[in-house]
Amino acid sequence: MQHDLKQQYEAMGISAPVYEFGEKILDNLKERFQEIDRTAEFNQLKVLGAMQKHQVSEACLLGTTGYGYNDLGRDTLEEVYASVFHTESALVRPQITCGTHALALALMSNLRPGDELFSPVGKPYDTLEEVIGIRPSKGSLAEYGVSYRQTDLLPDGSFDLEAIRKNINGKTKLVTIQRSKGYQTRPTLSVERIGELISFIKAIKPDVLCMVDNCYGEFVETMEPSDVGADMVVGSLIKNPGGGLAPIGGYIAGRRECVENAAYRLTSPGLGKEVGASLGVLPQFYQGLFLAPTVTASALKGAIFAANIYEALGFSVVPNSVESRHDIIQAVTFGTPEGVIAFCEGIQAAAPVDSHVKPEPWDMPGYDAKVIMAAGAFVSGSSIELSADGPIREPYAVYFQGGLTWPHAKFGILRSLESLVGKGIVTL
Ligand SMILES: *Cc1c(COP(=O)(O)O)cnc(C)c1O
Repeated sequence: MQHDLKQQYEAMGISAPVYEFGEKILDNLKERFQEIDRTAEFNQLKVLGAMQKHQVSEACLLGTTGYGYNDLGRDTLEEVYASVFHTESALVRPQITCGTHALALALMSNLRPGDELFSPVGKPYDTLEEVIGIRPSKGSLAEYGVSYRQTDLLPDGSFDLEAIRKNINGKTKLVTIQRSKGYQTRPTLSVERIGELISFIKAIKPDVLCMVDNCYGEFVETMEPSDVGADMVVGSLIKNPGGGLAPIGGYIAGRRECVENAAYRLTSPGLGKEVGASLGVLPQFYQGLFLAPTVTASALKGAIFAANIYEALGFSVVPNSVESRHDIIQAVTFGTPEGVIAFCEGIQAAAPVDSHVKPEPWDMPGYDAKVIMAAGAFVSGSSIELSADGPIREPYAVYFQGGLTWPHAKFGILRSLESLVGKGIVTL
């Protein structure tokens, strides 16, 4: 059987040395993979339990058009999300176009002129800079008279508690906490650490709202930030919770009043959650959520496999090969543009869609350097599917994430290694 598998890999362009190198690395990952499977098992039951509790029925899979009044499937799905995240309410809609939109919606609907937004964990994700107005933009929170403060993490990644205390003032209305490191070098926050931070903040100002940007973090642990005091958790359905099937969408789960504010902002004051046709996406939203725990587990295994492979070859990887994981992103620093390009070419060549296309670095809007992206995805731009991107600038790192199945994530990483070996960048 093992012999056949090796031949199968060879037929798919993976040479024997690359395959064997991968197997050697995998031998040491059995226990970690078991632990990931147990988390997936726990979360699978959590999702299933929520679906059963709210009596998801065949009728829930039918969509509505037009105004979308009395959309049973949409309303039930929102109850399911609220149960999964243990919150009072949730807003889960295809009209929320992406993660940035979901976060902007949560912020703009819960802040009023004169309020202050505070980030105690440093600079938020790039696209939020324009939402907040750190970089001036039309319609930013700054334009509406919402001010912003930030406390950076300390150099060792810990919270700067004294500075946080000083920055919380009479105007502070909402605290935004980004769980994932995103494309920065700081560590990703565990749910436990997020809980400690929220407790610290609420002890200083009990009525402040704590929102967590949950992107890339869903189902990586058995707890979510809403289990440790977050008033709102926010994310994208073309990342973890969409399970690779959701073709669009975002969610906000949290306290009833926060979610209601967001619904009034998304549609209209007075209408709120009552309108918003689900069109034809409900089967994918439900089934995607159902698959999300195991899909997230596959992506996590891929990230850990990549970290172990490339660390063993002498490259710097974040997180490193043994660290515990709180999101699905893996950074590998190659130190040369050729390394970044070869890696991305390998990931692209492993894709189910557009595998014949060669990715090229290009001038992407909003970036100060050329960026190369590998994404042969069923859902355009989906980063729960196997994908990688790297800015062509120092330190020449790639950010790798996703993999709908573990075998595909594994193949993608082996294919990337094959590409680096083929170009003489790596010798085994
Ligand atoms: C992806 C991401 C976002 C933005 O989501 P988009 O869907 O790309 O708009 C925000 N925050 C974090 C941490 C993310 O990873």
